[in-house]
Amino acid sequence: MTAYDPQNIFAKILRGEFPCYKVYENDHVFAFLDIMPRSPGHTLVIPKAPARNILDISAEDFAHVARGARTIAHAAMRAFKAEGIVVQQFSEPAAGQVVYHLHMHVMPRFDGVALLPPQSRKEDPAVLESHAAQLIAALQAG
Ligand code: AMP
Repeated sequence: MTAYDPQNIFAKILRGEFPCYKVYENDHVFAFLDIMPRSPGHTLVIPKAPARNILDISAEDFAHVARGARTIAHAAMRAFKAEGIVVQQFSEPAAGQVVYHLHMHVMPRFDGVALLPPQSRKEDPAVLESHAAQLIAALQAG
């Protein structure tokens, strides 16, 4: 497997070298909105530890990411009045991975509404701002 590349875009986001719509952070994970959301509120949860994907992350760091995804899922249900949640994680090109810092997708779902295809449309920044604020408020409300 290819080695972890510290110049990947999510590593730059973690280091504050590239902007993002941050929604959550703790000692182990960081979460921000996907700028090409497949559903409203589509969020990415990433480990602070460097890891390319599920094949090189430690079990402990992966557990932190899963815990973070669960936190986001609960908040997203409330923030967006969602009816369900899809969690996805792709490892290696054959699986559809395009950014090589492990990330878990957390996607709010609504009855009868299909997910958009991956990376089909860049969302309006004003919509992303508003969705981030809604999610942050739901996270703060606990
Ligand atoms: P994957 O196929 O799991 O590697 O998905 C990578 C995801 O990262 C896609 O859903 C992209 O829309 C998303 N993405 C790429 N660049 C950025 C960025 N700068 N900020 C937020 N999301 C991004």
